[in-house]
Amino acid sequence: MVAQMKTGLRVEVQFGRNKHYTGIVRELHGRTPTYKVKPILSVIDLEPLITERQLKMWEWMAAYYGCTVGEVMSAGLPSHLKLTSETIITLGPLFSDDATQLDDREYMIVEALTLQSQLSLKDVRDILQKKTVYPVIRRLLDRRVIFLQEELQERYKPKKIHCVRFSPAYQTEAQRIAAFDLVSKSEKQTAVLLEYLQLMRDQPFIKRADLTRRTGASAAIIKAMVKKGIFELYEHEISRITGAEGETGDAFELTEQQVSALTQVRGWWEKGQPALVHGVTGSGKTRVYLELMQARLDAGQQVLYLLPEIALTGQIVKRLQRVLGDKIAVYHSRLNNMERVEIWKAVLAGKLSVVGPRSALFLPFTKLGLVVIDEEHDSSYKQQEPAPRYNGRDVAVYLAHLHGANTILGTATPSLESWENARRGKYGLVSMPQRFGGIAMPAIEVADLREENEKGVRHPFFTPTLLNEIKATIERGEQVILFQNRRGFAPVYFCSTCDHTIECVNCDVSLTYHKYQHRLRCHCCGYAATPPESCPACGGPEMKLGGTGTEKIEDELKIFLPDARMARMDADTTRGKNALGELLARFELGELDILVGTQMVTKGLDFEKVGLVGIINADQLLRFPDFRADERAFQLMVQVAGRAGRKHRQGKVIIQAMEKGHPVIRDVIDEDYHNFIQREGRNRAEHRFPPYVKMINVQFRHPKRNKVEEGAKLMGGWLSHHLGDTLSGPFEPSVARLRTYYLQEMVIRVKPDGKELGRVKALLQKAVDQLGKTEGLTGVRVVVDVDPY
Ligand code: ADP
Ligand code: ZN
Repeated sequence: MVAQMKTGLRVEVQFGRNKHYTGIVRELHGRTPTYKVKPILSVIDLEPLITERQLKMWEWMAAYYGCTVGEVMSAGLPSHLKLTSETIITLGPLFSDDATQLDDREYMIVEALTLQSQLSLKDVRDILQKKTVYPVIRRLLDRRVIFLQEELQERYKPKKIHCVRFSPAYQTEAQRIAAFDLVSKSEKQTAVLLEYLQLMRDQPFIKRADLTRRTGASAAIIKAMVKKGIFELYEHEISRITGAEGETGDAFELTEQQVSALTQVRGWWEKGQPALVHGVTGSGKTRVYLELMQARLDAGQQVLYLLPEIALTGQIVKRLQRVLGDKIAVYHSRLNNMERVEIWKAVLAGKLSVVGPRSALFLPFTKLGLVVIDEEHDSSYKQQEPAPRYNGRDVAVYLAHLHGANTILGTATPSLESWENARRGKYGLVSMPQRFGGIAMPAIEVADLREENEKGVRHPFFTPTLLNEIKATIERGEQVILFQNRRGFAPVYFCSTCDHTIECVNCDVSLTYHKYQHRLRCHCCGYAATPPESCPACGGPEMKLGGTGTEKIEDELKIFLPDARMARMDADTTRGKNALGELLARFELGELDILVGTQMVTKGLDFEKVGLVGIINADQLLRFPDFRADERAFQLMVQVAGRAGRKHRQGKVIIQAMEKGHPVIRDVIDEDYHNFIQREGRNRAEHRFPPYVKMINVQFRHPKRNKVEEGAKLMGGWLSHHLGDTLSGPFEPSVARLRTYYLQEMVIRVKPDGKELGRVKALLQKAVDQLGKTEGLTGVRVVVDVDPY
């Protein structure tokens, strides 16, 4: 066995009496271990599946983010590559009793699976009467004879829509006119034919549902026309995530701005620096990335294109694939394990490039030449739970460094961190201040919620300014996006007598009322309850709703615009497998006039016909008790504004606010990123917040309040001795209880250079270990979060 050993091979090891795990060979050495060693029971792979660079990255992440390498490995390896005793296997759907391909052991497993449909690896061990089974399992998995259980869930099916077209006998103008004779006896059929010819003018394909809705004709009427040989029905497949069928501009010549950006980016790379592209929404950044990626692929290198969330960025993915073809694969959460492993192996072989969210960082690149980090400011790059609590953007920069690859970060609203990196000369800055095609940036205006509330419609959250503009936009045949950052109907449900608010039983937050289901829900833990009719505290007879969520916006807007076609885009309406794709497709196809949504609508949507974007309540965004609140609010508003008027004409944005003179709102209106970043930078420096210090958040969790307080206090005492005023807390966070755990927090501020950070982390680790040995407090969990978001 020793002879075949190599770093990066997976091996089978045993812990405890009966637990087998997958381990990875890290190093071959001749030193005598200082700990008790466990034997390697078997070698799973023939060739290493994990590269030296990956192991280095894992170790760097563990050290930087204060977690174990095992936790990083767990996040980074697809479960297929991570067999344990509890792993459940089933027979593959394609397996046809052909036992001739199987050896004796394989046959025994397959036979058992035909009898009892699933087995754990522990069962397999019993059946084979053998201690080590991972290699044989690996062989069966590779050949798709067996599958891991979780991946047999239903696979995605492309959405098809029913469409209508003229049959081959009606292709000319004259033939079509003759068709009117054929339907002259039926008013409905004539109407359908007329409508069809109308729709044909500006739609590439015509949906049956559109025809029936617009003419009031039934499906039977269309069928009758099919029978007459005028029409035929067919199914048009729309991509899973919507994709513009039309122009992307990628075949056209580069603009001057794009050419100059490319030259500058390459210039920074020559100096060995990552390039930060600050380009306004619609400036043509994506095209620049594409050029750079193409060049790398032509040179036989791999590219990693990172996105904050894959689900919301289908258009970009499609665009990349259209230009780069099958040299680039999408790595996303809907892939099953088998597909993940296939991508893993192709990436390891240096044959495949990848577009994906932060989890794509863990793939085994061997020829990485370029890392593109799109929307680098986006907070979805940060993993909150579980460890490693890493920021995908920062790990990506490290990954590129590890491979000697180039890096490009792009956004319309650079984060303070990246801006500071550019200012200090760590990143090279490239600006793209103009929209493509000379289209003006959207015109942004503020509607004063307070002032307008006193006149006009007197509605608490729709100003006449916004309502009128919505109407005018729809009348012009354009679409509207409305942004409200809370989902549900109302975030507070309270008693009108005593003000008692219904809270979650597990968390210290109020429950949100969802009208559609008539339920109260916790947005932290998912707890749900039926809304009580009277107050559980004082018995008062009247319960009231406070605040506004997307559901309520949609509901109330219907009162003003009964004919508008509306839909909601938030976590509630996009839960189903295809729900998001269908929603976006409907919007793109013009079936909807208004899309009301949470921050999901701020990201990446590129629809031609959006003429107006409305921000329902800007004050709400600015009120969070968080040092990043202003930065987030600015980014969200600029990003959502960027959805308006992208292609043909200038769009309009209306921001509703009470405090309309708020400096962040002013900067959004003036489209003045520089003013924003300078003011925010000064604030952060003055109050010692990132990027001018490194922050480490330490959270304590325990089901009992007194325990968590005691634990936090004790550790705070030890640490303050060493850390002085760089330590604040412990204190109770604004949400003091979460998922049945009471919380306490401390914040440590460290100079941004590396040395100090290492010292603090070592100290912290010591304190955590010590707390873990303190009688009565061993159950207090300590969660360390470096660079928290
Ligand atoms: P960004 O990524 O900066 O938001 P995009 O790359 O999506 O900008 O470009 C905005 C729009 O301009 C897109 O709809 C694209 O089709 C168009 N466009 C960009 N560059 C060109 C070009 N060189 N020729 C024609 N159209 C272009
Ligand atoms: Zn809860």
